[in-house]
Amino acid sequence: MKQLIIYADMEGASGIFDSNRKALAHEELYPQYSLWREYGRDCITSDVLAVCNAAIDSGIDEILLYDGHFAGCREHNVKLEKLPEQVRVFDVPNRECHWDMIRAQADMTPYGIITVGQHARNGAKDAYFPHTIHTPPIEAFYINGIHVAEIGQAVMTFSGVPYIANIGCEASHEEAQELSTNVSCISVKDRKSKWEPSSEETYPIIYNGIIGAIQDYSNKTAFPLTDEYECELVLTDGFHYEIPEKCEWGGSFEKRSAHWKSKDILTALDCFWEAHNYIQKEC
Ligand SMILES: [Zn+2]
Repeated sequence: MKQLIIYADMEGASGIFDSNRKALAHEELYPQYSLWREYGRDCITSDVLAVCNAAIDSGIDEILLYDGHFAGCREHNVKLEKLPEQVRVFDVPNRECHWDMIRAQADMTPYGIITVGQHARNGAKDAYFPHTIHTPPIEAFYINGIHVAEIGQAVMTFSGVPYIANIGCEASHEEAQELSTNVSCISVKDRKSKWEPSSEETYPIIYNGIIGAIQDYSNKTAFPLTDEYECELVLTDGFHYEIPEKCEWGGSFEKRSAHWKSKDILTALDCFWEAHNYIQKEC
């Protein structure tokens, strides 16, 4: 049984640019905008559908999807009713990013992981909506020296699982390639060359790209499993940590950076939210 993991975000979806950025604004938080429902959802659905159809046509038996954009909002961005019957979604409350629950619901050894709708990290040049998890207050999040944002958290959660492809903004591929050099990179927009195609135009690009990526499966590599994860969470100007007297999970703090270590990736990612609790806005 070949099980594929898909992690979808939305800032890197086809058809969403600076000019129509309100398409990203989830209705549960921004009820004043209608573009997310009228347009944005169709964009990310088209990209995810292209991945699913290509995967199924390449012999994948089962797909598990995590739709992580505006985690905490109940309604999915992806129109699940448009996806093939082989697709299931991870069962997490309000789509919150509980990577431990997500990892536990997948097979021990899934066939591979694909990231789609992906944006670049905070600080990336020529990128659409670059940010690291949420910037501000997050300037950067490092795990074992790699600046990790949404792509990195998903791929590292599935450490040891072949990383097949990243689909998104041209600038998003840098993070993907730092995690696994042989990952197939499929662009759906490029701010540098002002290439802004519609999701109808990118559908065949994604479909054919995934067919090719799976044909090249023997060359795909995973982010390696290790038993030491060293983390650093750095804040942007305007924010600092309220430094605690003692820290039960082993975190240590400076004004704008927190450090911790863990033997497993899921604890390492969990502590991100522990450190996050100490973030204060400067007045
Ligand atoms: Zn997002």
